[in-house]
Amino acid sequence: MNLLRAREEARSIIDVDYERLYSLGKRAILFDLDNTLGGRRPAQLAPEITALLDKLTKMRFHVGILTNRRIGTNDPVIVDLAAKYPLRCRASKPRKKGFLGILAQIGIPPKQAVMIGDRLFTDILGANRLGIYSIRIKP
Ligand SMILES: [Mg+2]
Repeated sequence: MNLLRAREEARSIIDVDYERLYSLGKRAILFDLDNTLGGRRPAQLAPEITALLDKLTKMRFHVGILTNRRIGTNDPVIVDLAAKYPLRCRASKPRKKGFLGILAQIGIPPKQAVMIGDRLFTDILGANRLGIYSIRIKP
């Protein structure tokens, strides 16, 4: 397996087939922040993104956010997301520790998890090394 190749690619997180992921046994969806949940350094999330995260929760997915960015805890995006979902800043992707830490917090093993992000050398490589199903959002 090529560790730098995502299992799937999508134009946006809106376009991912989450029902299919659920039927494949996936139960946790981990999202990158920059250029995945929002644009580059998003100041707030678009309403359709917030609605998607709500929908995933209703579908009984666990949702988590894993970003390498160092973000102040008073950043409004972080405050909103962290109030609802497990979230790790400075996650040091592709290192395993951040992925395993948030999955332990959620209580889901790597093989039942999906990582969605835009960067091959952090999001996709880190996920593939752990057997987390990887989906790349194309820039
Ligand atoms: Mg990103």
